[in-house]
Amino acid sequence: MTHIVLIGAGHTHVGVLRAYAANGAPDARITLVSPHPRLYYSGMLPAHVAGHYSRAELAIEAGGLLAQLGATFISTHVTGFDGTTLTLADGQRLAGDIVSFDIGTAPGALAKDHPERVIPVKPVEALLAGLARFEHGLDQDDQARRLAVVGGGAGGVELMLSLAYRYGGRSDRPALDLVARSGVMAGVPERVRRALSHALDRAGVNVITGRGVVDLDDTGLILDDDTHQPADCVIAATGARAPAWLADTPLALHDDGFIACDWHLRSRSHRHVFAAGDVIALPEPRPKSGVYAVRQISVLADNLARAASARALVDFKAPRTALALISLGERRALALRGRLSLPPSRLLWQIKDRIDRRFVARHDRPAGDAPETG
Ligand SMILES: Cc1cc2nc3c(=O)[nH]c(=O)nc-3n(C[C@H](O)[C@H](O)[C@H](O)COP(=O)(O)OP(=O)(O)OC[C@H]3O[C@@H](n4cnc5c(N)ncnc54)[C@H](O)[C@@H]3O)c2cc1C
Repeated sequence: MTHIVLIGAGHTHVGVLRAYAANGAPDARITLVSPHPRLYYSGMLPAHVAGHYSRAELAIEAGGLLAQLGATFISTHVTGFDGTTLTLADGQRLAGDIVSFDIGTAPGALAKDHPERVIPVKPVEALLAGLARFEHGLDQDDQARRLAVVGGGAGGVELMLSLAYRYGGRSDRPALDLVARSGVMAGVPERVRRALSHALDRAGVNVITGRGVVDLDDTGLILDDDTHQPADCVIAATGARAPAWLADTPLALHDDGFIACDWHLRSRSHRHVFAAGDVIALPEPRPKSGVYAVRQISVLADNLARAASARALVDFKAPRTALALISLGERRALALRGRLSLPPSRLLWQIKDRIDRRFVARHDRPAGDAPETG
């Protein structure tokens, strides 16, 4: 029987498992390899940081789907692939007739080079654990503290607005600095940048533009104009990279190290290898966002089944732009799609809340309130 190996319980793979459970699975043996069969739905992460959702509300459990499909789960990381066989972190080897990667991104250089001082935004468990450590320090004494988020893209800005809302009510509220070298969300329409800058300003966030972080010392950030920015806690929301170990595989990679695929989501070098989500480099670039990962679910599910029965593959019709609903910490959001945008409103937050809740409600949820293992 054909063996399909799914690597990573990311947004696309969990959706593929759900599609197979709902609509019928291919006649194949399925194995999922990932550290945990749990996914934190990224669209709800900033609002969780802001305090609008519990941790359990954005957690999706794939365990029930795996059981329903009679699939095998191996709880570990893949660390290597020779084109045929996967190497697992414990040294075991695993071969699949069809292999699919949905492993997301690795932290950027700042978090990689300073793992003890810098909190990466992903994986979610690392972000939440890092925040918990910082807050433990806040609770211990009444010393004034500063928290810096590095990165002025959508992730950094949304996270900073969420943090400002989270700490807004505290008497020991930390000072908040956002280091956005190219400004707040460079490249999006000016009115969106103005709305976000205004929101950051209202939230009391100090935005540092025109300067980037080159290094860290024990007391903060060293910026590229040789100035020093004090910080007790640093979160890096910039420079997500391709997982480094991919470079040691024979897979064709794009210049930036992500897996080069065609429109079938199939590797350009290996006909039995597929990839989806943030780890993929399509023939034309698309944003790395959960929206695209989710849109790839039906095509990947279909193509893995088609590959298993040697049928022609279908194309992923990737829209050039996708709707982004960016929350502002409080229960307001703005909408952005390409050059089109809608100003911040409560209504947009309610629409985002409904879309996100509907997505997670389609899946199994954790039994307890706050799953900690990741
Ligand atoms: C702060 C923040 C806010 C965001 N908000 C939004 C938003 O509102 N909307 C949106 O569309 N996007 C948002 N994003 C982007 C979104 O998080 C990503 O685009 C999305 O998570 C990509 O999903 P994925 O399926 O590629 O991988 P992921 O969901 O990241 O999953 C990867 C999986 O692979 C596993 N894995 C990793 N390495 C290995 C390995 N070697 N072996 C086995 N398993 C492995 C991981 O444990 C994980 O289970 C946000 C990102 C951040 C940082």
